[in-house]
Amino acid sequence: MRRFLIAGNWKMNCGPYDAAELLEGLTERKAEISEDVDVLVCPPFVSIGMAVKYLYDTDIQVGAQNLHFEENGAFTGEISGSMLTESGCNYVIIGHSERRQYFGETDETVNKRVHKAIEHKLAPIVCVGESLEQRQKEEHFELVKNQVKKALEGVSEAEVRDVVIAYEPIWAIGTGETATPEQAQVMHEYIRTVLSDLYSEEVADQINILYGGSMKPANAKELLSQPDVDGGLIGGASLDADSFSEIITIAEELA
Ligand code: PEP
Repeated sequence: MRRFLIAGNWKMNCGPYDAAELLEGLTERKAEISEDVDVLVCPPFVSIGMAVKYLYDTDIQVGAQNLHFEENGAFTGEISGSMLTESGCNYVIIGHSERRQYFGETDETVNKRVHKAIEHKLAPIVCVGESLEQRQKEEHFELVKNQVKKALEGVSEAEVRDVVIAYEPIWAIGTGETATPEQAQVMHEYIRTVLSDLYSEEVADQINILYGGSMKPANAKELLSQPDVDGGLIGGASLDADSFSEIITIAEELA
């Protein structure tokens, strides 16, 4: 019932020229994508237009890496939900650990952004995950539960069906260190029980839970084979057309 979602988070990489080159490489390698897999790239704001232009007749969708929770106004440097929709986005990453760590993002602002995304028909990809210290203190389940609950406060059962959760253990992001498939599965299953308690089992079964943290062709098969891992949020490996298309192919083979 759930379809794989393979999403590339380009972070602060690839201006419009580099974006065009990367997308050309990707569309050459993946001229067609199986119906059972959704593919998404999330370039920096300035490259969204280029991505939409390049991908308009492909199956690859475009998302953003953040949005502001106000509609418009005196918020220098910010981008609104309506601007993203107007630009051709249909997903937006919210609460990435780098935003929480470096830009003061809190559970409260994550929740506000989730509501704004939903209002603008952007599917929010809500990032949750613990630091190494929190895992060592065995606080990771409680922390992730609270992050999920707070992010979804006030989100109705009808609205939550389009929400995507990305479990991204901070210690695995950009470090080359990956959660083992078992560690990922245990946390994903736990997140699904949290969603089931918040909504219902039927709703929880429909929500995509992605894994993020050094996913690459060498480990994608094992991670994506876990029953509760419904795709990947991929940083480093999404900047390489070969690696990203290999991960898409792995998902297509498993779907
Ligand atoms: C990310 O940015 O969400 C991420 C998981 O990065 P990486 O794949 O590079 O660890």
